[in-house]
Amino acid sequence: MPFRLSRGGPNVIAEVQRWQYFLLRIGIHQAGLIDGDFGMKTELATKFFQVQSGLTSNGKVNDQTLQKAQELGYTILPDDYYSAREGNSFPPEPNNLESPSNASRNAVFTCFKFRQRPRAQRPDAEAIVIKGSCDGSLSDWTAAKIIEIPMPQLKFARGFNGRVRCHKLAAPIIAQLFEAWERAELLHLIMSYEGCFVPRYKRNQAPPGAGGHGERKSADVSALSNHSFGSAFDINFSDNMLGQVPAFCGRRGSTRELVDAANELGVFWGGHFSTQDGMHFEISRVS
Ligand SMILES: [Zn+2]
Repeated sequence: MPFRLSRGGPNVIAEVQRWQYFLLRIGIHQAGLIDGDFGMKTELATKFFQVQSGLTSNGKVNDQTLQKAQELGYTILPDDYYSAREGNSFPPEPNNLESPSNASRNAVFTCFKFRQRPRAQRPDAEAIVIKGSCDGSLSDWTAAKIIEIPMPQLKFARGFNGRVRCHKLAAPIIAQLFEAWERAELLHLIMSYEGCFVPRYKRNQAPPGAGGHGERKSADVSALSNHSFGSAFDINFSDNMLGQVPAFCGRRGSTRELVDAANELGVFWGGHFSTQDGMHFEISRVS
């Protein structure tokens, strides 16, 4: 029995997201944004689809509607798809990949000098200001290393402004990852995008004080976030906050199905940290 959907029905939220993504992908923009809520907009968009397909227009994703959608590339998942992926042990932790050490990320993405302004002058508690490269060859590390790339796969994600801003060595891997997610029909899982390059310490565990500090080198400071190197990005923040159990597979905003393809490309998932960070993906291997 396929996953049927309707307003007020016992819907699997990830299936609502998948249906909303399908409607948007075929150009029915009445669906609005991917939010996992089968509300009036999704119902209206479903009616549009039914009219367009010559079906009775009742706004319910029933068997006839699913069959028409299938003809347009919508996949009918097996009944046990979500139950087979339940709980916090899905997905399993990769055995050949780990979060990069400070030495390895500095070796790959190169060392930068940075300082921290007094608290009253910085946008958030962990923010830093990056200056030149540690070896003195670059006066502006950010200008030399950080680039912006288009990411068409994020066009339906809230908070996405058209470009991913990241390290130039991370860019091809991030682009490949979004392509892999698209091939695997997983883009409906990405509801929001919260950015990649953000110069800052790790959240809640960093040493910074109210006074800020003078110049330091990234190679000497392991408490910096990988976002400082432009080698990590965050998605679906509100359902996968730092220190919380990431949304389970099938629930709103779950990122768990995305992890397998990420690991294959050497990208580690924050949900596998001891302090879970399910929104976070970071490049751990550059080959
Ligand atoms: Zn992050």
